[in-house]
Amino acid sequence: MAELERYDVIVVGMGAAGSSAVYQLARRGSKVLGIDQFEPPHTLGSTHGETRITRQAIGEGDHYTPLSLRSYEIFRELEQITGEHLLDVTGGLMISSPGATGVNNVSNFFETTLAAAKKHSIPHEVLNVDQMRRRFPQFRVQDNEIGYYEVESGVLRPEACVRATLSMAANNGATLKINEKMLEYSEDASGVVVKTDKGEYHADKLVLTVGPWLPQIVGEELKSRFKVYRQVLFWFDISDNYDRFKLGNFPIFIWDGQGERDSIYGFPAVDGQEGGIKIASEEYVTEVTPENVDRSVSQEEIDKMYEKQIVPCFPGVGKDCVKSAVCMYTMTPDSGFVIDFMPGSSRTIVCSPCSGHGFKHSAAVGECVAELARDGKTTLNIEPLRIDRRAMVPSTNESPMRFPA
Ligand SMILES: Cc1cc2nc3c(=O)[nH]c(=O)nc-3n(C[C@H](O)[C@H](O)[C@H](O)COP(=O)(O)OP(=O)(O)OC[C@H]3O[C@@H](n4cnc5c(N)ncnc54)[C@H](O)[C@@H]3O)c2cc1C
Repeated sequence: MAELERYDVIVVGMGAAGSSAVYQLARRGSKVLGIDQFEPPHTLGSTHGETRITRQAIGEGDHYTPLSLRSYEIFRELEQITGEHLLDVTGGLMISSPGATGVNNVSNFFETTLAAAKKHSIPHEVLNVDQMRRRFPQFRVQDNEIGYYEVESGVLRPEACVRATLSMAANNGATLKINEKMLEYSEDASGVVVKTDKGEYHADKLVLTVGPWLPQIVGEELKSRFKVYRQVLFWFDISDNYDRFKLGNFPIFIWDGQGERDSIYGFPAVDGQEGGIKIASEEYVTEVTPENVDRSVSQEEIDKMYEKQIVPCFPGVGKDCVKSAVCMYTMTPDSGFVIDFMPGSSRTIVCSPCSGHGFKHSAAVGECVAELARDGKTTLNIEPLRIDRRAMVPSTNESPMRFPA
């Protein structure tokens, strides 16, 4: 027989954004139900792969820096309460050049990052090529390149963050249902109804934090505002040069492309001498769904990554790929997030920290969602993240929206 329970808020999807929303709602005293079709943290969405870059001056838009700074506070607080290790400050090196081809969500990422650092008094240094070569000999920088070094940038552990956040949500009274899939939802003047493969639940508000499943769930009219792309993560062998790349000796980095080389980003070796160094580029070629995405990584992809991206940049990184993983970006046309009520609704919130830079903000994003669900407004400015902002709305039916290419 169908189950019937009433909550203040139901959160569907408990990855990076949803776990945080459930926790923030529960700690504020809401009666909250979190539902996930799998058992987060898992490897089937957008929140796996052991590490995520975090940084404080956010070049992707002025409204993101406060989200990042607030997330640092929440992640640090979670570490203290749970005893889990979530964040390593490693310093962060962003490298660019006048001929940079990388887009990194905005075309002038280096300049906008520097401007955000100055505006928000984020500790940083600008390095010329000689200074970079002296301080970071692991990078084979070109004569025309410059560096931005951010002191507090670092590495977040996404799986540990989700685990710690969900455990605190449960400690604060949230009901968590895993391995349960939402099949449909509806809303009317009296509330929302969520039907799953195991039951039926009622609430005042609904939050959809379903990551790359979003286009399938938001309905025909909104679905074209999101595209999902396959992304590959590579861990290359550094066993002969572990000291140069290990945590403490190597920063996180974002390196704008130039000439034949694409933009790349990467991390120190966090998993010991045999664990490799994680380096990736971004791809906006293969549009996928979580159901049809190819989760295998071919030797051809590995060889291409090594020859084109690793060899020119990192002396000392070996050819063997010790590990790889496939993950998904959910993109909007302007690469921005969405945190908003569904058009015409005062009950259903849609939230997606999209476009490959969302994890670092996820702790504060969950807080914004909780405030929006409870109070209808947020402490931080999420106005630029509205679902009906200009970039998210096709101007005519004939002109499809442009996505990053
Ligand atoms: C390769 C890669 C590298 C990245 N690097 C960085 C980085 O360095 N720094 C950074 O800040 N960000 C980074 N990001 C971005 C960041 O990881 C994502 O923005 C973030 O993890 C997205 O979280 P999410 O909660 O939206 O989605 P997810 O974590 O995928 O969560 C969605 C959840 O919804 C559940 N769900 C979906 N449909 C249903 C349903 N019908 N019923 C029940 N449950 C459902 C799913 O099971 C899933 O658990 C990266 C992303 C990728 C893919």
